[in-house]
Amino acid sequence: MALHFVPTAKAKNILDQLRKLYPEAHCGLDYRSPFELLIATILSAQCTDKRVNLITPDLFKKADSPQKMLQLGEKGLMSYIKTCGLFQAKTKNILATCQKLVHEFNGEVPQNFDALTQLPGVGRKTANVVISNAFGTPAIAVDTHVFRVSRRLGLAKGKNPLQVELELQKTIPRAHWTEAHHLLIAHGRGLCDARKPACDACPLQRGCRYFSGLKKSRKS
Ligand code: SF4
Repeated sequence: MALHFVPTAKAKNILDQLRKLYPEAHCGLDYRSPFELLIATILSAQCTDKRVNLITPDLFKKADSPQKMLQLGEKGLMSYIKTCGLFQAKTKNILATCQKLVHEFNGEVPQNFDALTQLPGVGRKTANVVISNAFGTPAIAVDTHVFRVSRRLGLAKGKNPLQVELELQKTIPRAHWTEAHHLLIAHGRGLCDARKPACDACPLQRGCRYFSGLKKSRKS
């Protein structure tokens, strides 16, 4: 599929409005180091940030480094994260990732996107969250909210997260990638709900592809 790029002016206008709506938009996960952010982000797949933030304070008190996480072992780690979706697979991935960090990266989280995506359980989205929030490298992590909201607003048309990420990268100036990610998530969690978007209260109605489709279907 050919990628779709909207004019940067349109993207700027949308970001300006989102900035006004969500001046506090930021990473929803609690962390104190790149390692904690990496683990929290792995845990957040198929799980809410809120739930992850309930789990991680006790976990990180006990294991705030890959070495300490490995010492917990499978049973120990599972006992901390068992209220999180897919906790068995996440336990395996976290321990395998910690092994790799210890043996190949001196116990440090790599700052490089390609190296991060080689860690078990770390895909594009997780790697983008880590490089942008922990290391300050501009990135647009496309999660379910970013995917839905950017398509509804007409910022992207891609059929999968990678296509949407590439379209957003082209449309939004690099310096604003990380901020755009936080703003689109904030809107997805706020007014632009997946099932019941609050379009009547949304200042982005004008120019929203989803809303104009809704208006047409109301008329017919
Ligand atoms: S008008 Fe509706 S669909 Fe469009 S961005 Fe606002 S809440 Fe989302």
